[in-house]
Amino acid sequence: MTISENRPTTAFIDLGNLACNLRSIRQFIGPQTKCLAVVKANAYGHGAVECSRRLSREGIDWFGVALPEEGIELRRAGIEEPILVLGGFWPGQEHLILEYRLVPVVWDAEQAALLDKASAIRRTVSEFHVKIDTGMGRIGVRHDNVSRLAERLRSLRHVKLSGLMTHFAAADDPEQNQFTQLQIARFDAAVAEFERHGHDPVCHDLANSPGAFAFPSSRRSMVRLGGVLYGLCRDVLPPNVDRPILKPVLSLRSRISHLKSVPAGETLGYGRTFETGRDSLIASVPIGYADGVPRSLSNKGHFLVGGEFAPIVGRISMDWTLIDVTDISGVETGSEVIVIGSSGANVIEAEDVARSTGTISYEITCRISGRVTREYTCENLR
Ligand SMILES: *Cc1c(COP(=O)(O)O)cnc(C)c1O
Repeated sequence: MTISENRPTTAFIDLGNLACNLRSIRQFIGPQTKCLAVVKANAYGHGAVECSRRLSREGIDWFGVALPEEGIELRRAGIEEPILVLGGFWPGQEHLILEYRLVPVVWDAEQAALLDKASAIRRTVSEFHVKIDTGMGRIGVRHDNVSRLAERLRSLRHVKLSGLMTHFAAADDPEQNQFTQLQIARFDAAVAEFERHGHDPVCHDLANSPGAFAFPSSRRSMVRLGGVLYGLCRDVLPPNVDRPILKPVLSLRSRISHLKSVPAGETLGYGRTFETGRDSLIASVPIGYADGVPRSLSNKGHFLVGGEFAPIVGRISMDWTLIDVTDISGVETGSEVIVIGSSGANVIEAEDVARSTGTISYEITCRISGRVTREYTCENLR
């Protein structure tokens, strides 16, 4: 066994695969459309700074974050590309928006006025994008109510409306294609309304990952890509849509800390929810729900050891998970355990974990917590 100085629970992030995915996607959607990489929520758990640096080297056009704080983190790390703050800003944060050269998404006149005032103090003109709600029902000015906003924005002298965007509610579901088409039509009508009021926003973006792949007509000047960059696509893209090969970027691994023989008829873990039906070899793995392994995988999920599936037995606890390795040969203390990733001929993808816990892969990778070490690798690509 190799003694490591840290708990051997690590998320490996293959930046080569990240770069590869971006190259494949760009080739697929063509050079006329810019790509914004969505790196909110620590790049869906993959590490926002490291991923952004790699994407920057690949010539990414824009970055997208949810909060100003996330944009500030990228600027402090030296990221120079334009950064769109998808969730806008809270009153008071307009000064940070300007200081860190972020481009906020805005959906009402008061937000724009705050930005205008802060820009006037700095004697500058700052840019913002407007979000149009075409059917998501979340943030954004309603598509049938843009006139007043378009008009009020005309009176602000220190801000410029440089982009219009919307967000799809169900672009991943072929049965709801008509609704997505309706969202596109509503967006076009809203754009026309802004133009009628004398605005000339150069950036038009509608598509998230499923939109960019399933609705070529929605690509326009830019697409906003999250999931597909990280190779999370099997539960995000419609099943039969054309796509390039996308590789998973993240794998989550640990090592067996303790291995013991347990006779038949013993119970394991909190609540004693598992009873050994035979003499068993049980391994303790130093990863738990505080690291992001869903507790609902208790007595249900698997990890991979030596390329074989080892069932999770008993309740997953905060820091530990027990697996049954009785049927796997050659297991020892220190053996590698794959929580997400491949080993031998077998693989457990984030999508698999998501399916068995009733969620999507994004939630699985987002929830890998801060105490899990991230290690950045570049397996196949410089
Ligand atoms: C998160 C987000 C995206 C990215 O969605 P993916 O499905 O990961 O591509 C795009 N646009 C907005 C507004 C978002 O909030």
